[in-house]
Amino acid sequence: MPNPEFAIEVRDLRKTYAATGKMPEKKALNGISLQIPAGTIFGLLGPNGAGKSTFINILAGLVKKTSGNASIWGLDIDAEPRQSRAALGVVNQEVVADPFFTPYEMLELMAGFYGVPKAERRTVEILTALGLGDKKDAYVRQLSGGMKRRLMVAKALVHNPPVLILDEPTAGVDVELRRLLWDYVRELHAKGTTIILTTHYLEEAEELCDTIAIVNHGEVVACEPTAQLLSRLDYKTLIIVPREPLTAVPAELAMHDAKLRSDGSLAITFKTAETGIGRLLEKARAAGIGIADLSTKSPDLEDVFVALTSEKAPA
Ligand code: ADP
Repeated sequence: MPNPEFAIEVRDLRKTYAATGKMPEKKALNGISLQIPAGTIFGLLGPNGAGKSTFINILAGLVKKTSGNASIWGLDIDAEPRQSRAALGVVNQEVVADPFFTPYEMLELMAGFYGVPKAERRTVEILTALGLGDKKDAYVRQLSGGMKRRLMVAKALVHNPPVLILDEPTAGVDVELRRLLWDYVRELHAKGTTIILTTHYLEEAEELCDTIAIVNHGEVVACEPTAQLLSRLDYKTLIIVPREPLTAVPAELAMHDAKLRSDGSLAITFKTAETGIGRLLEKARAAGIGIADLSTKSPDLEDVFVALTSEKAPA
């Protein structure tokens, strides 16, 4: 295997789905260019219909691109289709498992499919790491939903791919399983696997990913280190809980972006470079507000996401 700088590199990737029946043609990817460095946990965020699945499916060899270039682990998907696909593991949302196989048999079958020699297989190791060690000989139909999910991750790992794509892996998964999956993702990452994940759980992307790309209408609207993306928003919200619930925003604070919340507290959003909290509190006191409690909120990824994706009208 080569040792490339980028785990995935795509240049001007485009996909137009042809018109079918009454459906007009659909431009799903409008020139995506991304360089995903080897060794990162990279987040791919975007609303439904943004093009994330199309992007992943092109890399996985399931959808044919219209134009552009893509390589996985330095291997061009056109010139070296087999090798490039062998460098990639994809975990989809769907659970596809034959109920009459055991997890052990299923993984062995996948390993055979990828041509992994018997001596190099890590079937038991993978199952154990995902908490399925004691279920290796159970029938898949006897596994819980969460166990089947973990089995899907195991399946994507049998050929030891240097790049792993997790497509909304925790959608509809309970908190405990989500923790377990994320712990394992971190472990894989620590061992050198490059992880790309799509998720709607923005807090998780914020917590897990070192770089985040935001995709909207088939275009990359932002691609930055997570901290940098967050620092774009140099504002905070001060929340004042008054002793007596307020009925209106006091005149002293009317010049600020102050909103009365349904519980009678006041949320004042301010640019940290322009206004200090002290100044706002002075104004609140001048307005005769007795302060029972105070807190501040920094913008999170959800705010960045909304700010960036609402700039363009839907196609
Ligand atoms: P995401 O995964 O971000 O939700 P998709 O890649 O699934 O986005 O979809 C991108 C756009 O392409 C959407 O408008 C979707 O309706 C359209 N699309 C996806 N698959 C097909 C297909 N097989 N045929 C036609 N249009 C499709």
